[in-house]
Amino acid sequence: MSRKELLGDVRRVVIKVGTTSLIKDGAVSSDFMDSLAEQVSRLREEGREVLIVTSGAVGIGLKAMGVRPKPNEMPIRQAAASVGQSILMQKWSESFQKYGILTAQVLLTLDVYSDRESAINLNNTIESLISNGVVPIFNENDAVCITEIKFGDNDTLSAIIASRADADLLIILSDIDGLYDSNPGRNKNAKFIPVVRGVDDSIRAMAGDSESGLGTGGMKTKLDAAVICGESGCNMIIASSRAYGVAYRAAAGDEIGTLFLSGNEISKKRRWIRSAHPSGRIYIDSGAKDAVLNHKSLLPVGIVRIEGDFGKGDVADIVSDGAVIAKGIVSYSSKELASIAGRKSHEIEKLLGYRGHSDAVISENMVLLVS
Ligand code: GLU
Repeated sequence: MSRKELLGDVRRVVIKVGTTSLIKDGAVSSDFMDSLAEQVSRLREEGREVLIVTSGAVGIGLKAMGVRPKPNEMPIRQAAASVGQSILMQKWSESFQKYGILTAQVLLTLDVYSDRESAINLNNTIESLISNGVVPIFNENDAVCITEIKFGDNDTLSAIIASRADADLLIILSDIDGLYDSNPGRNKNAKFIPVVRGVDDSIRAMAGDSESGLGTGGMKTKLDAAVICGESGCNMIIASSRAYGVAYRAAAGDEIGTLFLSGNEISKKRRWIRSAHPSGRIYIDSGAKDAVLNHKSLLPVGIVRIEGDFGKGDVADIVSDGAVIAKGIVSYSSKELASIAGRKSHEIEKLLGYRGHSDAVISENMVLLVS
């Protein structure tokens, strides 16, 4: 099958641009940004919708401020992110203006996204920007993020956005031109892999734990991104940002980069549960574990203990024997669950003073994290 046939109709595409692609010889590359804006404009003329995820805020900010932080020196990185983000957006906006395209900045944090209502609002924002002809440009809001509430890297962020926005294709532009069966930097006989059908252990073994310079991601985070995309029926391509007209060509079906074909699609709600930040933990007994693993709901009687402070409708981890086996949207707050833990469902009304759901987490609101 040709690449075009494998891709099918690419109507909505997310393009992720890494820090190393944006910064050339220590400065932001306006040429690269202009070229990408031109490619986006051509894609839109063909009726495709484009969203961008940009990295570079921290790298650009550090350069502008002339500081070199030690690894993990968070405050200076956060300050750099806020300096760099506005420079970054100014540059993107200038490049897109040349093609008469308006851009919008959307900054996300994992805790905001993990709130179901905010995640739904995000969809509304994306749809109304696109229907008004605007190109949304996303980044993580690094200036206010602490490690616990970070998406962590923009490969993951771009996959979550592609999944949330029901994109047909995510293109990750990077300093590498795709996946090889071993590290091409060290092994000159490394073989290029044009198509991947499912990220399994053998694919992960090929990727090793490669890291690139200024950005956060390596091949590992790109494979994680491929898994997230795969579950939403979205294909993904990793290609070199240096290749001529790369984003346009990748979306149009040229044989460029490595294509990761998507697997079976799971529902949007389940995808969200999987990527949401858990607000607490529900420890369960072995009977409840069997039920959960058999796709049944979690009843209060199987709950041993609650950790964390969460409200009804939040996402919590479901833990058995010290391992997180599932995640789900809770039908009760942490305080309520603590008072009905270990009790039969018919006792709920007496214990809480109202007749709520008989399940603590209903099966439709749960995703298994083990098979
Ligand atoms: N959000 C970070 C930035 O804009 C980049 C994270 C990454 O490189 O994946 O600097």
